Amino acid sequence: MIGTVYLVGAGPGAADLLTLRAARLLAEADVVFHDALVPKEILALAPRAELVAVGKRSGRHSAAQRFINKRLADAARKHRVVVRLKGGDPLVFGRAQEEIDFLRARRVAVEVVPGITAALAAAAGLGISLTQRGVARSLAFVTPRVGAGEAASSWVGTVLAADTAVIYMGAGQAEAIAQALIAAGKSQRTPAAVIENASRAEARAAFGTLADLPRLAARLSGGPVLIVLGEVLRNAASAEQPATARTRQAR
Ligand code: SAH
Repeated sequence: MIGTVYLVGAGPGAADLLTLRAARLLAEADVVFHDALVPKEILALAPRAELVAVGKRSGRHSAAQRFINKRLADAARKHRVVVRLKGGDPLVFGRAQEEIDFLRARRVAVEVVPGITAALAAAAGLGISLTQRGVARSLAFVTPRVGAGEAASSWVGTVLAADTAVIYMGAGQAEAIAQALIAAGKSQRTPAAVIENASRAEARAAFGTLADLPRLAARLSGGPVLIVLGEVLRNAASAEQPATARTRQAR
């Protein structure tokens, strides 16, 4: 075994939100296995590397995951610097543990390089603190998404218990999300935002309430989307015009 597999966070999209360590490893990389979400400006930082696109936008198929695991291990037999580049942070909804466990079991050296997760880029783009003195002292990152054969997610209880909640991989189920939370007792008037393409030139945000969520999500244009819920958004929402479902550039 000659190589190390680096699980590298590509950040939320903007190339200048990469860490210096990520940029250095990309420059040295012999091969880069990347997610579909990683933009080409970031892939351009790996000029010597063979670029291999793996995984779908919501790559949840375990067969595909096993294939990726195997390709990473094989690459470490041939190359010194193998980069597995994942959107945001590799350890947040990134299926990194499966890759880490597989590689370690085969005695392949693995290192993780953190990245800026989408929630933090979205908050930065809005200029809204996810925690606020006297308003929000707890912050939850959840997803309602579960893979085939996995136990049901406890995301509803977690959102109810947290002052601020950021929902990943949920925009396609906005209606079901709003219904489930309202049925569980979350106020319909909870301030809500959907943020699409955080940190990218085409970033957009729309504000409203939990009851508005399906309508806010219906206006999106196909990029990756986060839903944010909580009182920290109250001023963001009221600073907008009274007409509902306004959309604006988030930066
Ligand atoms: N590891 C990633 C998350 C992967 S799951 C991270 O730490 O950010 C993919 C989900 O992340 C998408 O469905 C979306 O909910 C969210 N996401 C990723 N990039 C985003 C972006 N630039 N803007 C908004 N949401 C984003």
